[in-house]
Amino acid sequence: MEALRLSEPDVIPTGSIKSKMKYADVVDPLLDRHSAPVTIALHTPQLVFQGYQRVYFASNANLNSFVENPKRFFNLPLNPEITARPDMMGLAVRCPVMGNESRPFIINNMTPRLQVTNGQYLYFASQHCISTFLRNGPETYIQLDTSKTPFTSNCVLSGKMIELGATTTARSELKGGQHVYFCCNDCLLRFNSEPRNFYIGSLDNIPAETYNPTGFLIHDPVSNNTTVVSHTTPRILLKHGQSLFFETYDTLTDFVQKPVKYLLTETKHKP
Ligand SMILES: [Zn+2]
Repeated sequence: MEALRLSEPDVIPTGSIKSKMKYADVVDPLLDRHSAPVTIALHTPQLVFQGYQRVYFASNANLNSFVENPKRFFNLPLNPEITARPDMMGLAVRCPVMGNESRPFIINNMTPRLQVTNGQYLYFASQHCISTFLRNGPETYIQLDTSKTPFTSNCVLSGKMIELGATTTARSELKGGQHVYFCCNDCLLRFNSEPRNFYIGSLDNIPAETYNPTGFLIHDPVSNNTTVVSHTTPRILLKHGQSLFFETYDTLTDFVQKPVKYLLTETKHKP
């Protein structure tokens, strides 16, 4: 399996998203269809198909059960009683069969699709691609088991490779829940005392593999509103490749002036 390239755009919102929360809520295909939805976030267990479409789960155990026999979780034909979640109409995606290098297409009500149990969908470039997908087996097109390969980036201070996840202890939390990750607590404390020293400046080299969670829901640390990250989302690049995301350039500007105000104090002196 090829490693996920996070700098690659995957789900690119192209128009206004009618309802952000509706976009972001999904039901795990292994649970009862009326159970509480999962809100998509950076660390939500998820299966990534070629072309970067994803199926989300409430737990890694459910993800692993899905991977064991994915064909079982596709409804043929579509079940009309199940609402599509997330609502991806108007978004651009790539076909899982055509793969990562294929051209993205915009989802409309004619787009060929497979329904995953409980309402998540995978979208395809053609009916022929659906036939190929089913004939070869969905497992052929799984790109990455993210339960085994966490997101990685680099410490903002040292540049060392680190895992980005709930188990990474050296991390600074912003209001609303975005994180900045470090290799050790010394780096975390130095960042928290003066975050502005670690923004990318005009004389810095921009890292080749800038961490970019396109398609994920984030909270703006200033406004606390949610937004789905696209390739045009305003952001502050941090040294060595991590980014902080904002709803607008207005909130970004507020943050740049007083970043410490938006750091959660309880994370400043974590042991
Ligand atoms: Zn360090």
